[in-house]
Amino acid sequence: SDVKIKRALLSVSDKSGLVELGHALAKRDVELVSTGGTAKTLRDAGLQVKDISDLTGFPEMMDGRVKTLHPKVHGGLLAVRDNAEHAASMKEHGIGVIDLVVVNLYPFAQTVAKGASRDEIIENIDIGGPSMVRSAAKNHAYVTIVTDPADYDDLIAELEESGGKTSYDFRRKCAAKAYSATAAYDSMISQWFAFADQGQLFPDMLAINGNRAEELRYGENPHQRAALYLPIGPHSSGIAQAEQIQGKELSYNNYNDADAALELVSEFRDGPPTVVIVKHANPCGVATGDTLIEAYRSALECDSVSAFGGIVAVNRPLDGATAEAITEIFTEVVAAPAADDAAKAVFAKKKNLRLLLTGDLPDPKRGGLMVKPITGGLLVQSRDNGFVPDSDFKVVTKRAPTAQELADCRFAWTVAKHVKSNAIVYAKDGATAGIGAGQMNRRDSARIAAIKAREAAETYGWDAPRTVGSAVASDAFFPFADGLLAAVEAGATAVIQPGGSMRDDEVIAAADEAGLAMVFTGMRHFRH
Ligand code: 5GP
Repeated sequence: SDVKIKRALLSVSDKSGLVELGHALAKRDVELVSTGGTAKTLRDAGLQVKDISDLTGFPEMMDGRVKTLHPKVHGGLLAVRDNAEHAASMKEHGIGVIDLVVVNLYPFAQTVAKGASRDEIIENIDIGGPSMVRSAAKNHAYVTIVTDPADYDDLIAELEESGGKTSYDFRRKCAAKAYSATAAYDSMISQWFAFADQGQLFPDMLAINGNRAEELRYGENPHQRAALYLPIGPHSSGIAQAEQIQGKELSYNNYNDADAALELVSEFRDGPPTVVIVKHANPCGVATGDTLIEAYRSALECDSVSAFGGIVAVNRPLDGATAEAITEIFTEVVAAPAADDAAKAVFAKKKNLRLLLTGDLPDPKRGGLMVKPITGGLLVQSRDNGFVPDSDFKVVTKRAPTAQELADCRFAWTVAKHVKSNAIVYAKDGATAGIGAGQMNRRDSARIAAIKAREAAETYGWDAPRTVGSAVASDAFFPFADGLLAAVEAGATAVIQPGGSMRDDEVIAAADEAGLAMVFTGMRHFRH
């Protein structure tokens, strides 16, 4: 079932690697047939190429809409070679077999991504390309189909190994990949029709049709399977693209936690040195400082018990001193835009620690989609990139926040957006003082955050927990005054929350009674 490659049809939009492949094929006396642009590229490189129009006896026409859609092409691709009737038809109509097809498709996704007009997008729906891909893949018993320039080297190696032939196993793998490519391509087009008029949604829907990049050892638990997928087409950088400098293979949970840490630290990409420590996708300490090491120490002080085995993300290139401080406790993953040699040398001593370098931090205000499977379906929503400037904060209490309280409100509010609901975050002097996450009522989150702050004070021998004189943020409104009263008890002097409860009046009255300053943002940040 090895098939000798005698004639190849090449028709590619992405011409990378084409000339090298052309030479490799020509060296093995493979006849090259090509469409306009592809033929020109090959010829300019000194290769002999037959035009597709010579093969079909028809010119390429209608702006290239009709180039390869012809029985001389598809007959040559689809004929079952040991079928006498098929052979007779080939002979009768002068159809020659095509053994190898190299096609990649019009750049539909890139055309959408660059904001092209509707007409230009439609023109970039490839018709002849997918047809050839599907014909060749169907007939993989005889025909080899390559759809990705990244696979040219494998093809050349295959030919090298077996004297210009391809094996059935190789062709079968190629066919599987080819149908994935056409399926993803048509699915992008169908999504574009579905979402084209909804602005933001579409470009990111592409991300759902991702290519599998890596099989992970297992999922959230050892009995679950898992893989990492990367989007087709243009995408911003992030945890999925980060360079791993050292350490064990990243697990599913590592990716998930590191992503939560990176998303949060990115909120501070234009701010002072900032450190985020995450456990189970929730921050357990976030702080800014004059230096990274100062910020790290301060973040750790929020909840040093939870920080054990945590994920650390920073918004500045890592230096040696900060690396030393981080490695003083067991840390699973460190993510940073960059790291200097001293920092790398420190981490090198901790063989298991995974160091990820992300380059520029992602834009916290970018669009994007969140996808969540439900039984029998898929929930899709736009990313929570909502932002309320200080000028839109509404002071609802008799007392307005001081400048320091306002700064701490902003900080606590930014962190609260990244804490699972119900989220309560106390902050003081640019550092979290206590974080309450994931409780089923807001009062419990407020109380748990205060308990953690008291424990930190005991651990470090402070006179009072950092919640005293802090600002407290709530990701959604306080439905009753009780949550706010828990914050008062913990010593908070300022509150930031969306507002909008039926009982806002009660909550505002309780705040006034306690002498608190409270601002409403008008925007909720649930995160479940
Ligand atoms: P070239 O640059 O060689 O002129 O064009 C290559 C592109 O044309 C490839 O992306 C291929 O998929 C596409 N193509 C090949 N045949 C046809 C056809 O008959 N109709 C259309 N619309 N595209 C084709």
